Amino acid sequence: MTEAACGATRRVAAFIQTTMIMWDVQRVVRCDLQAHGPEQDHVGHLAQVSEDLHSVLSWWARWRDDERAMWFGIIADCPMDSPDDQDYCTFFRYHPGACSWAVGDPEEV
Ligand SMILES: [Zn+2]
Ligand SMILES: [Zn+2]
Repeated sequence: MTEAACGATRRVAAFIQTTMIMWDVQRVVRCDLQAHGPEQDHVGHLAQVSEDLHSVLSWWARWRDDERAMWFGIIADCPMDSPDDQDYCTFFRYHPGACSWAVGDPEEV
């Protein structure tokens, strides 16, 4: 079963891209979490920071539709694997909603 993804996007300010140039941050960040209401902030993947055998660390951006500000943080990846062990979750640790393997890609809808 596949849940709908949020798919909300937000432009990343030019100065943020400049500040984070070593991580090659994208111009537009997209919320890939399971579709959610306004009480839940959008969170989108910006760039991978590091990876080892146990975890991936990435920059994540958090924003709300009714605020211009964005928040940034480095968070470890979600440790959940899919029930059939064929896929792993690409979201951040303790994310709300379903894991990535259970959420559809908004660009394929
Ligand atoms: Zn969202
Ligand atoms: Zn997950």
